[in-house]
Amino acid sequence: MYSDSALYMSLVVPVFNEVETVDLFLDRVSRVFEHQALVSLEIVFVNDGSTDGTLGRLLECQKTDVRVRIVDLSRNFGKEAALSAGLQAATGQVVVPIDVDLQDPPELILEMIAKWREGYEVVLGRRMNRDSDSWAKRVSATWFYRIHNKIADPEIPENVGDFRLMDRAVVDALNTLPESRRFMKGLFAWVGFRTTHIDYSRPERIAGTTKFNGWRLWNFALEGVTSFSIDPLRIWMYFGAAVALLSFFFGFYIVLKVVLFGVDVPGYASIVVAITFLGGLQLIGIGIVGEYLGRAYLESKRRPIYLVRHIYEAGGSRSFSRSPQEKDIHEYPKSDLL
Ligand code: UDP
Ligand code: MG
Repeated sequence: MYSDSALYMSLVVPVFNEVETVDLFLDRVSRVFEHQALVSLEIVFVNDGSTDGTLGRLLECQKTDVRVRIVDLSRNFGKEAALSAGLQAATGQVVVPIDVDLQDPPELILEMIAKWREGYEVVLGRRMNRDSDSWAKRVSATWFYRIHNKIADPEIPENVGDFRLMDRAVVDALNTLPESRRFMKGLFAWVGFRTTHIDYSRPERIAGTTKFNGWRLWNFALEGVTSFSIDPLRIWMYFGAAVALLSFFFGFYIVLKVVLFGVDVPGYASIVVAITFLGGLQLIGIGIVGEYLGRAYLESKRRPIYLVRHIYEAGGSRSFSRSPQEKDIHEYPKSDLL
């Protein structure tokens, strides 16, 4: 379809305190694309509020490497928001979000491009193994996919991260999604398009440390499920109905017992068990309602997903940038805003 025509590609690289990995990443990417005359690159680093001199390092790299563009966010907004910022800023015909720690091998991008040339619009990098993850992360990931895909729609492909190649059409579609709480894996799946995958085994982080601890992963999983399913809210209707039905029969049984055998005073244990059990269930139910209510509340504020301090272009030009919402505002006639 696209045979061997020239290709302009964007890499989108969110970075948060990655001063040790930036150079290693750029070296490796340079080596991979050294002899690829047909592929020209832009490398969009999104500095997600690093506090360790990552920005300085990136600016240093930009002096000698014109492919580097830097989107500097005003604080740490999290990887999902940083990715959104990168996708918005990327201008390539195809776009590849990739981690800076080289856990997503850049060599694979060449295979992805080959698939794209065959006519696929999305090429996923799928992890064959999770040897580089801790035991706890492996188990929780398995369960996450299992539960998520049972109750949420659309299913997200198992063992697929953010590393993928996307056609411009896919990126444009993602950029039109208005929600401010962004679970990228879910959004990627939601937009659809002709999709295929390439298997790879995920290596260890080349330097530095992971930014995702257990608590952050748990919240991430919660975000994923609640973003794409309202089943956890609905399930209480069925729970409630089942408990009500049971208690109806139980009441019937008690009345019958009283009529046949007289009043039976003991019953302390069963009352306490029923009260605490139902109390617990109700609290869980309220908690889940609260979770969704909170999400609706945050969403209703229509705050931007991220704020950009500056975009640093190669050659020293430095432009103010805007978040997607700001861009929307610019589409209105000026007089409306004044
Ligand atoms: N990252 C980010 N903002 C954050 C956390 C992480 O931009 O708040 C970036 C990080 O710099 C890296 C990528 O997201 O490029 C993946 O992070 P990490 O390697 O820590 O995650 P893991 O691979 O352990 O899941
Ligand atoms: Mg990593």
